[in-house]
Amino acid sequence: MVDVFDLVIVGAGPAGLEAARSAFAPGRRIAVVDDNPRPGGQIWRHDPTQDPPRAFRSLWDHLDSSGTRFLCSHRLVAFESGPTLVLESPTGTRRIRGERLLFACGARELFLPFPGWTLPGVYGAGGLQALAKGGLPVAGRTVVLAGSGPLLLASAVTLLRHGARVEAIIEQAPTGEVARFLALLPRWPLQTLAALALIRRLIRVPYWRGVWVSGARGRDRLCEVEVTDGRTNRILPCEALGTGYGLVPNIEAPNLLGCKLTGSLHPAVAVDSQGETSLPGIYAAGEVTGIGGVGRARLQGALAGVAAMGETQRIHGLLGRARHANAYVGHLAQHFRLREPVRRLAGPATVVCRCEDAALGPAHGTSPVDPRALRLLTRIGMGHCQGRICLHALAETRPEPFLREWLARPRPPLFPTRLETLAGLGDGTNPVPPT
Ligand SMILES: Cc1cc2nc3c(=O)[nH]c(=O)nc-3n(C[C@H](O)[C@H](O)[C@H](O)COP(=O)(O)OP(=O)(O)OC[C@H]3O[C@@H](n4cnc5c(N)ncnc54)[C@H](O)[C@@H]3O)c2cc1C
Repeated sequence: MVDVFDLVIVGAGPAGLEAARSAFAPGRRIAVVDDNPRPGGQIWRHDPTQDPPRAFRSLWDHLDSSGTRFLCSHRLVAFESGPTLVLESPTGTRRIRGERLLFACGARELFLPFPGWTLPGVYGAGGLQALAKGGLPVAGRTVVLAGSGPLLLASAVTLLRHGARVEAIIEQAPTGEVARFLALLPRWPLQTLAALALIRRLIRVPYWRGVWVSGARGRDRLCEVEVTDGRTNRILPCEALGTGYGLVPNIEAPNLLGCKLTGSLHPAVAVDSQGETSLPGIYAAGEVTGIGGVGRARLQGALAGVAAMGETQRIHGLLGRARHANAYVGHLAQHFRLREPVRRLAGPATVVCRCEDAALGPAHGTSPVDPRALRLLTRIGMGHCQGRICLHALAETRPEPFLREWLARPRPPLFPTRLETLAGLGDGTNPVPPT
């Protein structure tokens, strides 16, 4: 059986929730799908020790009483013709379809391998934040956060709130770039207020710029990291390291459906000014269309929600603000762009694919490699995460447009699934009817 809705939204983060709110009208059937047990996405991830943030509460109060159908703990794993969405949950498989479809599937962290990054005690910066919110005891533990971008600061604030001792935040961007980022930030007042709130809470935490972690050491688990500026090294003892070099959009589902992508290094879903993708009736909003933070995700969600419902009047009120918010994507990318030495920390023996325990091997260096041959030779990208982590790390080290090739031939399912789900899949070869 297939449940049919007027609008199906994939992702219950800020973009998806805002889209659901703006698309709502009495009698409209709207469904929001998310693979987490609760709505909120990455930034509003449920933290039982804290009151939910005000912004989330006000959105949720509205949606909770609106009749919007929330399918939490449901993961979109494949499409069948229509397109029908095949969802997997702990209790089974179900199928839903929307007259309109909106992807708000967010982003994930970009990890760059370095010697020692597989030691226990090394986490993703946002991953460590999520674990702390989920109950990982960090009180009294010495933590270093390293990589690039504002997520390091947001993670540091969460960890401090949970009692961790944050020794330092290690930002690879040089001081001049960070200063230029801050100097132009007031063009985006919401982002400025958010940055000030973070900085106020981190006043006692050292924020080093122009440095990066070149190695993590310890016998059975992490006990120190080596920090370098490319000339001098320094050892920093710590019990946990959270590392992340920015975010990459979760484009796999829209890509499988055939939506056009934009950008070559870590592509995003291409949308027009109202959030419609290259496929008519299929929209995208938030980080899946480019990394620009929560304010932009909410605005884009609101715009795509009304556009999907064809509410022309309300679209015009949002267009200018959304355009301005979109400019923040370039601002962020420009000033936190990765430096060459950071992209080349992994040696030939460094594990790059953690699922398959596969080292960089033949992909080390700059001579061209064929992604397919590489996969067969090393098993890089063949594991549980299906290349979501290692292929993006590899793309940073390769001279050729590595991911483009890989993404050009997507195949279902989107995630490892139960055999029962696989066996029930239709042919899925042409999920979108020709227009
Ligand atoms: C780990 C992490 C932590 C972050 N923490 C912060 C923070 O503290 N502060 C901050 O300002 N920014 C943070 N960010 C940045 C954050 O991504 C954005 O600012 C904001 O949450 C983007 O909203 P969004 O709605 O576009 O995406 P998200 O909030 O990422 O929401 C997307 C949702 O879609 C779901 N989803 C994706 N694919 C599927 C699928 N196939 N099936 C079902 N559900 C799916 C995801 O699980 C997620 O819940 C974090 C990012 C990451 C990756």
